[in-house]
Amino acid sequence: MTASADTTITTPSCTLAGRIALVTGGGSGIGRACCQVLAREGAQVVVTDINLQAAKDTLTLLPGGRQHVAVAMDVRDRSSVEDAMKSAQDQCGASPSLLVNCAGVAIIAPILETDDDSWKKNIDVNLTGSFLVTQAFATSLLESGNDPRGAVVNIASIVGKTGCTNRGGYTASKGGVISLTKTCAAELASKAIRVNCVLPGLIDTPMTARRSKDLMRLIPLGRAGRPEEVAEVVAFLLNERSSYMVGACVEVTGGYGM
Ligand code: NAP
Repeated sequence: MTASADTTITTPSCTLAGRIALVTGGGSGIGRACCQVLAREGAQVVVTDINLQAAKDTLTLLPGGRQHVAVAMDVRDRSSVEDAMKSAQDQCGASPSLLVNCAGVAIIAPILETDDDSWKKNIDVNLTGSFLVTQAFATSLLESGNDPRGAVVNIASIVGKTGCTNRGGYTASKGGVISLTKTCAAELASKAIRVNCVLPGLIDTPMTARRSKDLMRLIPLGRAGRPEEVAEVVAFLLNERSSYMVGACVEVTGGYGM
């Protein structure tokens, strides 16, 4: 049997060296783990968070020391997002070409007891935040005139697909992130920016510190995930190794909700 041209295996770049990666919610949990894995892969990381001190604390954990920067960003606020993007560009000398939308909140209440403020906060941070940051990121990258090859990973949630009791605002926001991912993916692919999302299940972070032990029996793997187990998938989706993945939703759940 002779090998056809279709079977040629090329070697994609497997490093993120020379790339600038901006992570929102980088001061804690999954966002912090993303910063650590992306720095390990060679990226220059812009750690952003609403809490600047938490972002600075993440910097101290990154290999590659002084090249990384911390910037305050409230993802709900357009001017905060645009200022942070500008500051990242100024401090790094170029626009970020990789983005992880990870900032999030989970305000929990049954639908009948959900007040307007908690509904709005879930939507504003998780969904509107992902929109505002993606728009500012893509605008800055495309206007920069640099190689526009970019990639975005949105951190949604498995419950954005399945729904979940007592989490109406949260699940709606994450379902929105899934469909926002697909629309951005369709619009930006032709501009060389790939957009995908990750749907984590139960991950051990400050967000889930107060959780019911009963949840474990719903997870086929029988345990919560570690933030770095999500971050490794994020790094793959940002890397050229996943060059044909566009608009995908990758579940990282230990089997929960499949
Ligand atoms: P986390 O440890 O609480 O981290 C979230 C980070 O986002 C915190 O540093 C938080 O700052 C920051 N943040 C909150 N509001 C912000 C805003 N307006 N602008 C910028 N940053 C803001 O939670 P996590 O578990 O790592 O969650 C990270 C992402 O994964 C979230 O989108 C979450 O919905 C998603 N997720 C988590 C799980 C899980 O089981 N942990 C499962 C599925 C999806 P403060 O601490 O100061 O509020």
